[in-house]
Amino acid sequence: MNANDFAMQRCLKLFSLAKAMWGKDQTLAKRYVWLAKKISMRHRIHLPKEFCKKCLAVRIEGTTVKTRLVKGFVEKTCLICGTKTKKGYKVKK
Ligand SMILES: [Zn+2]
Repeated sequence: MNANDFAMQRCLKLFSLAKAMWGKDQTLAKRYVWLAKKISMRHRIHLPKEFCKKCLAVRIEGTTVKTRLVKGFVEKTCLICGTKTKKGYKVKK
């Protein structure tokens, strides 16, 4: 294992901690996400899209994010700040 693998493990652990902490202390949960973001920037690794880029809220389906299918896109709306992200999908025939 190299340093990037350890960094990825640390980030995933921080995400699980943030998800567990969201109901109790949102500021601490955002701090965990911020730390994971800093680690990923230091080690240049791609994080899973489990947080809002604008307000750093961890994505929990139904609690902090809602997902809709809009005209060929998967649209995820942050319920904290209202930021929308879109990703296209293709239906195979
Ligand atoms: Zn947000």
